[in-house]
Amino acid sequence: MEVLAFTRLADLRALRARLADGCRVAVLGAGLIGMELAEALVHLGRGVRVTVIEQERQVLPRSFDGRLAREIAALFESRGVALQLGRRAVALERAGAGAGAALTLSDGGAVGADLVVACVGVRPRAGFLAGAGLATARGVLVDRRMATSLPGVFAAGDVAEGPAADGTPGLNPVLPTAAGQGRVAGANMAGRSAEHEGWLPANVFNFFGRVAMSVGATEAGPGVTDFARAEGAARGRLLFAGARLVGASFVGVAADPGALGWLIREGVPARDHAELLLARPVEAARWLAARSQRAVA
Ligand SMILES: Cc1cc2nc3c(=O)[nH]c(=O)nc-3n(C[C@H](O)[C@H](O)[C@H](O)COP(=O)(O)OP(=O)(O)OC[C@H]3O[C@@H](n4cnc5c(N)ncnc54)[C@H](O)[C@@H]3O)c2cc1C
Repeated sequence: MEVLAFTRLADLRALRARLADGCRVAVLGAGLIGMELAEALVHLGRGVRVTVIEQERQVLPRSFDGRLAREIAALFESRGVALQLGRRAVALERAGAGAGAALTLSDGGAVGADLVVACVGVRPRAGFLAGAGLATARGVLVDRRMATSLPGVFAAGDVAEGPAADGTPGLNPVLPTAAGQGRVAGANMAGRSAEHEGWLPANVFNFFGRVAMSVGATEAGPGVTDFARAEGAARGRLLFAGARLVGASFVGVAADPGALGWLIREGVPARDHAELLLARPVEAARWLAARSQRAVA
C-alpha cells in the first residue's frame, strides 16, 4: 500500500490501476483537488468507499466560509462520502499484503483504507534556485512586471509569488493567474512594458450538479460587513468594506465570477444593491458593472 499523490496524469493512471471494486479510499485534504477527486470516485459507481480527512473544521477552507462549506459538506455526505473534519492524519500503519492500512488521526480516531491519496496542496519547487541570488519566500518573488530580483529574469505561474489585486504578495496557483502572469512576463521579456493587474482568489465548482463559487475575500475581517441570504437550497454571502464589494460566495445558485470579480477589482460602490446582488447575482452584477463602465466612459 502506497500513498499516492494527485497532481499529474501519471498519478491518475496509478490510482486507476490500483482501484478495485468496493475498495476504501482515504483522501487527505478537502481542498479543490481532494473534493473533486472524492466526487469523481463516487461517480465511478464501483462501490468505492471514500473518506476525506481535513485538518480544518470545514471542507474547502480557502474557498468558502464555514456556513457555505457546511452546505457543500452535507451534499457530499448525502452521496456517501465520509468526512473527518478538524483532524489531521498523523500516522499510517500498513496492515500486511493486500490488507490495506490504518490511518491514525490526531484525535486518536482511525480510518481504514486500501488506498491513500494525498491532496494537500502544491508547493513551488524553488529549492534548486538557492544560491542563484534570486529573492524567494514561499515562491519566487516577482513584482507586477513579473520581474524577479535578478535583472532579466522573470517568473510566472505556480512558482511566482506576485502581488494580489490589493498589492499583497502571495501564491495563487490556478490557470487564469498563470496564463495572465505568463502573458505579462513574455511581453516584458520581449521589450514591451506590461503590468499584471494582480490576482484575485476565484473558485468555481460543480459538485454533483450543484454550482458553488467564490471570488475575493471569504472571511469578514475588521471593518467588513456581511450580507447573507438563504432560500431553499440556495445560499449567498457578500462582504463589503464600506460601500465596496470585497468578497462574494454562492452555493446552489448561478453567479458570474467575472462580473463579481470586476466589481471587486474596480472598487465599485455596490452595498446599496446588496439585496439585489444576493437575489439575482448574475443580472445584478452585470448591470452594476455595465453602469459603472458607462459612468467611466
Ligand atoms: C489536480 C489539479 C487540478 C487543477 N485544477 C485546476 C482548475 O480546475 N482550474 C484552475 O484554474 N487550475 C487548476 N489547477 C492548477 C493549474 O493546473 C496550475 O495553476 C497551472 O498548471 C500552473 O501553470 P504553470 O505553467 O505555472 O505550472 P505547470 O502547469 O505545473 O507547468 C510547469 C512545468 O515546468 C516543468 N518544470 C518544473 N521544474 C522544472 C525545471 N527545473 N526545469 C524545467 N522544467 C521544469 C514541469 O514539469 C511542468 O511541465 C489544478 C492543478 C492540479 C494539480
